[in-house]
Amino acid sequence: VLDRARAHHREAETIEMAGTHVDITRRREAEGRVLYLVEHDALTELLNRRGIMRSIETIHAQALRSGRPCELAILDLDHFKEVNDAYGHAVGDVVLRSVGATLHAEMRSADWVGRWGGEEFIIVIPDCGEATAMATLERVRGRVGERTIEAEGQTLHITLSAGLAVFQAESDTLDTLIERADAAMYLAKQRGRDRIVFAGGEEGEQAVFIAGAIAEAVRDDSIEVCGRPLLDLRSRERCGEALVARIPHPSCNELDGGICLEIAQQLGLMHQIDRVVVEAACRRLQAEGQVGEAMSRQILFAPLSGDSIKRPEHLERLAEVLPPRPSES
Ligand code: GH3
Ligand code: MG
Ligand code: MG
Repeated sequence: VLDRARAHHREAETIEMAGTHVDITRRREAEGRVLYLVEHDALTELLNRRGIMRSIETIHAQALRSGRPCELAILDLDHFKEVNDAYGHAVGDVVLRSVGATLHAEMRSADWVGRWGGEEFIIVIPDCGEATAMATLERVRGRVGERTIEAEGQTLHITLSAGLAVFQAESDTLDTLIERADAAMYLAKQRGRDRIVFAGGEEGEQAVFIAGAIAEAVRDDSIEVCGRPLLDLRSRERCGEALVARIPHPSCNELDGGICLEIAQQLGLMHQIDRVVVEAACRRLQAEGQVGEAMSRQILFAPLSGDSIKRPEHLERLAEVLPPRPSES
């Protein structure tokens, strides 16, 4: 309600006023709509270039202040011209809307998704390391690729290529960050499309690669646990076994390899690895129970991450199969 009034007569303590109360709901709605249209794309309802630039500037400034990592990805649909040429522009528009909706649904609410122009999209991921960002984008790429899009009686499949760049506070401006993501996206096209390329140094590429292998192993339940002998340095005899999780991939075969652990931690996957180690420890302990007294004097070393404190079910599971301590028996 907009109130307007004017005092037309004053006398001692009394003021006489005349005015109006106007319902401006529709005007406010129209203003809101204009503001929305200024920063959103009419076709996909995602942020448009202007809207996303404003968001990036905010996130960029926050990342500069906090020193926290921030990632930016440019995504481009593969062979999109062929869709337009074969089925017409209207079908192309349905595909753009559908991909936009998938991107929006798959990202966290803290992330920003926009239409960069034409059939290009942009995603900004604040407070996120490269391994997690890469895993997220891989998931998004998978979802877009597996979806079928129905338009005007046609069933279509579309894939996308993307470039991911991490904001480097010491050296990056907004423009250089976008340029690197764009260059990585072109590299993804060159390497055959339907893929994500990380615009980082060799170390970053390796981290991203390992992250993919870890995420895949967790998904396929293919993490292996092997035992390494523990030696008693006094007697020089074997006194037990240490359990080590292994990712069945040539680049990261043992998870205690420092970088692998760090990445698994970043990806929030440590509890999954703990679970596999605990299961293996339980199996060993149960088998040992059958073998008898001699074996139980051996040490079984099962390294667990700090995450196991947050997830006591692993420790409880282990406690169930542990033999009672001599004093308790
Ligand atoms: P590539 O895999 O190399 O990216 O091949 P492409 O065919 O996707 O690449 P290119 O950039 O040559 O084609 C992009 C096409 O996107 C060209 C243009 O007709 C189409 N396009 C851009 N904006 C729109 C739009 O708003 N609607 C529709 N239907 N098509 C659009
Ligand atoms: Mg393009
Ligand atoms: Mg394209």
